[in-house]
Amino acid sequence: HTTMDCAQCGARAKHALPLSERTYTCTACGAESPRDKNSARVMLVRAGLNPASADLVSPATC
Ligand SMILES: [Zn+2]
Repeated sequence: HTTMDCAQCGARAKHALPLSERTYTCTACGAESPRDKNSARVMLVRAGLNPASADLVSPATC
């Protein structure tokens, strides 16, 4: 379910993303990101890395 988890706040989308939907929009914080990039970040975070330090907006603004 990594593609449905928000990379910014960690919330899980309640609906599955249609394959035609290329942009993931978080229903909790409203963050938008390309779905493949979002899922990649989620996996990085779960692997113990912190991609947020690179180019993500601070979660505090979420
Ligand atoms: Zn979010």
